[in-house]
Amino acid sequence: MNDEPGFFECFVGKTFHLTVDHLRNLKKWREEHDKTCSFIRQPRPATGERFTYCFLPTGIGTAQWAECGCGEKCDLTDDDW
Ligand SMILES: [Zn+2]
Repeated sequence: MNDEPGFFECFVGKTFHLTVDHLRNLKKWREEHDKTCSFIRQPRPATGERFTYCFLPTGIGTAQWAECGCGEKCDLTDDDW
């Protein structure tokens, strides 16, 4: 599991939650994405989060995803929609 400090600091509100499965998917995605990410190849300030976390409540559930600083997104929406 990813225990990176501050990993969840960008959560918006209290309804955003990730399950263990989500975290597993996110970690896998990050490992793959790190190989191609343009963001981590750029010089950048030491401060600032690389990832932001978004959620969008809808009538049938909550869409949620993580977005990298390069613009790539990792879908973390529940599978049981
Ligand atoms: Zn990226």
